[in-house]
This record gives sequence, C-alpha cells and structure tokens, in this order.
Amino acid sequence: DQIDSEQTDTTPKNFPKGVVLGQDGKPCRSCTSMASWAAMIKKETSKSQSTTASAALQPPPDCPPDIEQLGRSSWMLLHSITATYPTQPSSQLQNETKTFLYTFSKLYPCWHCASDFQQWMKEDKNSPRVSSREEFGRWMCEAHNAVNVKLGKSVFDCNKWDERWRTGWKD
Ligand code: FAD
Repeated sequence: DQIDSEQTDTTPKNFPKGVVLGQDGKPCRSCTSMASWAAMIKKETSKSQSTTASAALQPPPDCPPDIEQLGRSSWMLLHSITATYPTQPSSQLQNETKTFLYTFSKLYPCWHCASDFQQWMKEDKNSPRVSSREEFGRWMCEAHNAVNVKLGKSVFDCNKWDERWRTGWKD
C-alpha cells in the first residue's frame, strides 16, 4: 500500500495528516480539524470522481462540528459556568460540580481530547478546585492552558479570566 507523504505516526494509514479515527474505526469528525476532513474528502473525490463527494467540500454552515468548533463552543460553556458560579457555593454544589467535570471528561465527543483531559485531572495538582467562583475560574483557565500548551498556542493570563468571561475588559 502507498503511504501518504504527509502521514504522521498518529495518522492511520492511507488517510491525510490529522485525520483521527473513532472507536468504530471510521473517521471521527469531532476529533479531526475541518482542514484535515476536507483533505480526506478531496482525496476520496479524486479517487471516485464523484460529484456528491465534491459537494461535501463546501459544507453547509449547519453541519456537525469539527474539533475546533466543538472546542471553542465547549470552552465558552465551561468558562461561562465558572463566571456564574457562586462566590460561596454549598458543599452539595461543590460535589455536584466535581461530578459534572468528571462526567464531562468522559462524554466529551473528541475521544483523544477526553482521554487527555481525564489524565490531566488525575494529577494531584490538577484535581478540580471548586470552593469559590475565583478558584473555579482559575482552575478552568489552567485546564484550558494545558490544552493551549499541548497545541503550541499562547498561554492565557489567568489573572484575566474574570474580565474575559464575566465582567468584560476594563477600558
Ligand atoms: P480556544 O482555545 O477554543 O479558546 C477560545 C477563547 O477562549 C480564546 O479566543 C480566548 O479568548 C479564550 N481563552 C484561551 N485560553 C484561555 C484560558 N486558558 N482561560 C480562559 N480563556 C481562554 N483540540 C485539539 O486539537 N486537541 C486536543 O487534545 C484538544 N483537547 C481539548 C480538550 C477540551 C476539554 C476542550 C474543551 C477542547 C479541546 N480541544 C482540543 C480544542 C481546543 O482547545 C480549541 O478549542 C480549538 O483548537 C479552537 O481553538 P481556538 O484557538 O479557536 O480558541
């Protein structure tokens, strides 16, 4: 079999770089960027010359999310939850919040993101800190920064999480 020239160690054989398979062995949309997904469709199209596949290169705006859209929307929800979290939560709410975070990390649709997030939370220094809004907001910021670092993106200044997600920027 011919191996794709752009292939990496993590890319399955005969798929363009960045395509990730799901547990069913099929390409996983929410684990793959739109660019890699489009490259895969393009490759399929050039094999089959199918006009139907060609049309898939221009997905409608209401198509299922790729890994980046899913990530942006998820972080928006997670940071917004911290922004509206009580300053003095009851111990019941603190427990429910921890349960939510562990459940979220299991159900997150991108399986390799979910797996890394679970591993990150397992480290003692990263276990969820939810005893106040400020603490929870900073913890979420650190969780997001861990992914930023992994992806080679800039680290966000966690002193500013509250301005970014709750009050708006100070002029
Ligand atoms: P995002 O990283 O989505 O950030 C959105 C906005 O949040 C930014 O514009 C900025 O204003 C603000 N922001 C950025 N950093 C912080 C911070 N530390 N604290 C507060 N606000 C901040 N993608 C992968 O490719 N591989 C993965 O393994 C992966 N794991 C993920 C795990 C989880 C739990 C989640 C929710 C997402 C994961 N993603 C992963 C998606 C990834 O984090 C990004 O969401 C995606 O790459 C889109 O990035 P973006 O540059 O548009 O901004």
